[in-house]
Amino acid sequence: MTERRSLLVTGASRGIGAEVARLAAAAGYGVAVNYVSNADAANALVAEISGNGGEAFAVRGDVGEEADVLSVFRAVDERFGKLDALVNNAGVVDAKSRVDEMSAARFTRMMRVNVIGSMLCAREAVRRMSTRHGGRGGVIVNISSVAATLGSPGEYVDYAASKGAIDSFTVGLAREVAEEGIRVNAVRPGIVDTEIHASGGQPDRIAAMRGFVPMKREGKAREIANAVLWLLSDESSYTTGSLLTVSGGR
Ligand code: NAP
Repeated sequence: MTERRSLLVTGASRGIGAEVARLAAAAGYGVAVNYVSNADAANALVAEISGNGGEAFAVRGDVGEEADVLSVFRAVDERFGKLDALVNNAGVVDAKSRVDEMSAARFTRMMRVNVIGSMLCAREAVRRMSTRHGGRGGVIVNISSVAATLGSPGEYVDYAASKGAIDSFTVGLAREVAEEGIRVNAVRPGIVDTEIHASGGQPDRIAAMRGFVPMKREGKAREIANAVLWLLSDESSYTTGSLLTVSGGR
């Protein structure tokens, strides 16, 4: 029997992260379901995965806080004894706004969660996976956004810039650890049907944006998770430093 691979998905209680956790558990991964505030959603997902015969546990932690990240990885070490894969999925948006109306506190939160959070988690993963540190390799998938190239003018340029940073980080880290058994890639979703739009004060955003998508529809979390699962798998063994756009053509 092959050994179960272990995976940490940040922001896995809801949306795209939850779907990645579901698919990964069904594919045989042991999954750490990270969340920051919605323990009920995280616990319900863990119960669902366990009920389907998979292995998962919930672990709270704000990816933008170094102490929290360290404790999340300690929990993964204790539970799985190793880490094979990380999906840096946790991310936030903010209210629709122009840059000349944005506060410093908003910029700081955006970068702290979306950029520093992914960097801190990637650092901890590399420390565990890299052959340079005695590890046996692994895979990291960062969740970026098509916003990185579109720029999101008049909506949230700060968010788009945070995803641009994720793209650069993905390419650079991939090349830095390519000889150490670690592949690093990003998925850039287009507009996807999750609660993130309501969290930014735009519950009707999908209906408003649908017409701009060449395929004339929003994506489903499952369609993003499928791309993530491919990048996690050995099927993508020669793919690193790639930014895979999954956006219905936009
Ligand atoms: P979502 O439905 O709003 O879910 C966000 C998830 O992230 C939740 O599990 C939330 O946990 C968690 N989270 C938020 N802040 C966190 C923090 N500081 N530390 C740890 N976890 C945190 O979001 P989504 O739409 O699935 O988005 C997932 C990723 O895809 C994000 O990086 C987003 O930028 C990207 N993306 C989304 C879209 C889209 O249209 N949906 C498009 C492009 C890219 P709680 O449940 O505890 O709050």
